[in-house]
Amino acid sequence: MSHRLVVVGAGYAGLSAAKRLARKLRRSDVTITLVNASDRFVERVRLHQLAAGQHLATLPLRQRLAGTSVQLVVARVTAIDATARTLCLDVAPGAIGYDTLVYAAGSRAWFDGVPGAAEHAYTVADLARATRLRRRVAEMASGGTVAVVGAGLTGLETASELASSHPELRIRLFTGGDDVGAGLVPRAQNHVRRALDRLGVSVHPGTVVAAVRQDGLDTMDGASFAADAVVWTTGFRAPELARTAGFATDENGRMLIDATLRSVSHPEVYAVGDAAAGIAVGGAPSRMSCQAALPMGRGVADVVAARLSGREPGPVRIGYAFTNISLGRRDGVVQFTHPDDRPRRLALTGRTAAAYKEAVVRSTVGFGARGASSRPEQDS
Ligand SMILES: Cc1cc2nc3c(=O)[nH]c(=O)nc-3n(C[C@H](O)[C@H](O)[C@H](O)COP(=O)(O)OP(=O)(O)OC[C@H]3O[C@@H](n4cnc5c(N)ncnc54)[C@H](O)[C@@H]3O)c2cc1C
Repeated sequence: MSHRLVVVGAGYAGLSAAKRLARKLRRSDVTITLVNASDRFVERVRLHQLAAGQHLATLPLRQRLAGTSVQLVVARVTAIDATARTLCLDVAPGAIGYDTLVYAAGSRAWFDGVPGAAEHAYTVADLARATRLRRRVAEMASGGTVAVVGAGLTGLETASELASSHPELRIRLFTGGDDVGAGLVPRAQNHVRRALDRLGVSVHPGTVVAAVRQDGLDTMDGASFAADAVVWTTGFRAPELARTAGFATDENGRMLIDATLRSVSHPEVYAVGDAAAGIAVGGAPSRMSCQAALPMGRGVADVVAARLSGREPGPVRIGYAFTNISLGRRDGVVQFTHPDDRPRRLALTGRTAAAYKEAVVRSTVGFGARGASSRPEQDS
């Protein structure tokens, strides 16, 4: 019987893993199956653009896998039976067995138990929710208010994208921190402040949101703000699948793995991307980012291929080169970093940074290669 290699999740990490595995393992005794909840690749890094009303390219997975030996199964994994080494699926064939599992299920919005947030807040964390926000924004009257909660990278990008695409709306940005752009060198941080100001985004620093209502939010210090939509961008969390299956995970549900991306509790299982707590250069857990997901995807293919060939692989390096922030389509910041994610003195700002980021984003999906089309996004 052939060795059943199954990859769960066809995002940046899982798709790159499956394709590289197919290239490395041209063997009749190994089958490679990629299970994904949808039949298309979602450019998650552009979901704030989608929410602002821009069109995303449609990237069908079958086209992106054409010419490889990877078998695509479009289904949602509802549970993992780690003892029977079986995935339960929400549609036929109902279940699928594995000998080696690569877990690449990504992450989702994390509401951190704030009352009303899960019920009322919008997010840009996945296609369905970003599409819902897009619809809400499109129906708002001029003068409508969007409150973005969280001024990390996703919050900054979402607030500035909405403000530049919808100058008729009022955009507020709430952060519990003292300022925006923490972790950037002063020149880059000043640029972010000025860009938000130019776009008319009102920043509320030092403001912790205590509750979200259908028509706005309440803050810890007792203030209330009306909003036609509240967008929650304070962080991401891995799905519960790994934890409930009994795999060792951290407090964010990310699978605990060793330097070869292998589960520390189940040696036949590997994890990559946002769903994995990788060990980055410097020893910190990997940052949820394409910069970590892509090398992990490629790295796991090398590791698994080596082990299936009887060789012991070396560690997979997860290092960083920059932090990219778009501030609308024509402005941005690129903060260059050391491999351990500490900022370097060098940063790009303005149009050059926007162009740099666009080139990086395109490169992550081989944009323009087979499978890309410019068909407008369908609301779903
Ligand atoms: C708006 C936004 C902007 C961002 N900008 C940047 C940026 O500029 N730079 C950067 O580095 N990072 C950015 N990120 C983060 C980046 O998108 C993630 O780190 C990256 O997508 C992680 O890749 P992944 O493959 O681990 O997960 P994902 O890309 O999320 O892919 C996971 C896949 O698994 C599938 N899946 C999940 N659960 C199941 C299941 N149960 N069954 C079957 N399939 C399942 C999903 O459908 C999806 O296809 C951004 C994120 C957002 C939301």
